[in-house]
Amino acid sequence: MGLFKWFFVLLAFHLFTAAPAASSNPEELAQITLDFLNLAKEPELVDYMVNIRRRIHEYPELAFEEFETSKLIRTELDRLGIPYKHPVAITGVVGYVGTGRPPFVALRADMDALAIQEGREWEHKSKVPGKMHACGHDAHVAMLLGAAKILQEHCHDLQGTVVLVFQPAEEGGGGAKHIVDAGVLENVDAIFGIHVSPLYPIGTVASRSGPTLAGSGFFEAVISGKGGHAAIPQNTIDPVVAASNVIVSLQHLVSREADPLDSQVVTVAKFEGGGAFNAIPDSVTIGGTFRAFSKESLERLKKRIEEVITKQASVQRCTATVNFNPDKKTFYPVTVNNEDLHKHFLDVAADMLGSQNIIEKPLSMGAEDFAFYAEVIPGYFFSLGMKNSTLGSLASGHSPDYRLNEDVLPYGAALHVSLATRYLQNYRPESKSSYKISHDEL
Ligand SMILES: [Zn+2]
Ligand SMILES: [Zn+2]
Repeated sequence: MGLFKWFFVLLAFHLFTAAPAASSNPEELAQITLDFLNLAKEPELVDYMVNIRRRIHEYPELAFEEFETSKLIRTELDRLGIPYKHPVAITGVVGYVGTGRPPFVALRADMDALAIQEGREWEHKSKVPGKMHACGHDAHVAMLLGAAKILQEHCHDLQGTVVLVFQPAEEGGGGAKHIVDAGVLENVDAIFGIHVSPLYPIGTVASRSGPTLAGSGFFEAVISGKGGHAAIPQNTIDPVVAASNVIVSLQHLVSREADPLDSQVVTVAKFEGGGAFNAIPDSVTIGGTFRAFSKESLERLKKRIEEVITKQASVQRCTATVNFNPDKKTFYPVTVNNEDLHKHFLDVAADMLGSQNIIEKPLSMGAEDFAFYAEVIPGYFFSLGMKNSTLGSLASGHSPDYRLNEDVLPYGAALHVSLATRYLQNYRPESKSSYKISHDEL
């Protein structure tokens, strides 16, 4: 607790003895940011986060079914004396730390797991058959609760309110959209989100300004013909051949119609036809995803996917219907990182980790429902490295062999705390666009 006290004195001095941002001393700011990392690395807090992460890992819950995870979060917030709203978007929890007044800055953690059977044997392996935290969302919850603990211990020093967003259904359900629609972010000025990543070394972060992840949509089409004996094709209308031609034609949308400098993807990942070797089925179902980096490109792909499927199917005398919300999968917008928040992030990350540990993240065709937040308020989403050569190579997200390096937890908690507290400290009420980073004013 000695360090806590020392930190409190330093922060109190820093926040109350001077006009905060205008006189912010870069060395002091850097020291406070480092102190947050040291606080997050205190064994007591690390144990707290590891324990929470393992409890959630053992009982993974799928999108909008995160009832026990949500209960665990609320129990912890109750223990910390942090007020919250619940239910938000079915299982979501939104907590509040600080003055309860503006400015408001939000930190987001997603809670859902995947329908994957965990492949690796270890002490805290998933106890639910066919379900697994294979994307690290268990760690995201633990890091945000760790951050909540630090923030609550310093709540009287906060110059505004930190909003803790525990959201359901990131994996395809668009939980973020439901949180936005619930109206709980209406007065929030900015939001930050972290995703752990096995691609980058522990102690590093990776991000970029502007578009960072693609927008995505899903489609499913039923191509219908007329089934019959496989040896008498002339008496059938074969949907297997029609669907095969549809798939080949869909490949031309990116290769022949899209600007080669405007990255796009159309993938058919699902093909379900008949089950017999000697029978032509009545219908075939295909499905897949499409990705792009602009609304216009996404809309064009959507329109053309429907045209190509229906018209190409008709060439082989079949009919086709196309559904763009299969399995309640939602359209995700492009994730765009706010430019001012990028500068803020670079300052905080450089002070905490050193500028050599900030990686310019390449664009990715992956998608994230964090995009829904960044559509309505300034948002910033980044990767937090957890690769450690002594652990060997870590399996990628959504793999049954996915393995989380728990050493990542204090970095996530400290970055959450630092990004939020320094955002509040630097906030200028005149307008959102007048938000300035302290270094500009020195
Ligand atoms: Zn995922
Ligand atoms: Zn994820």
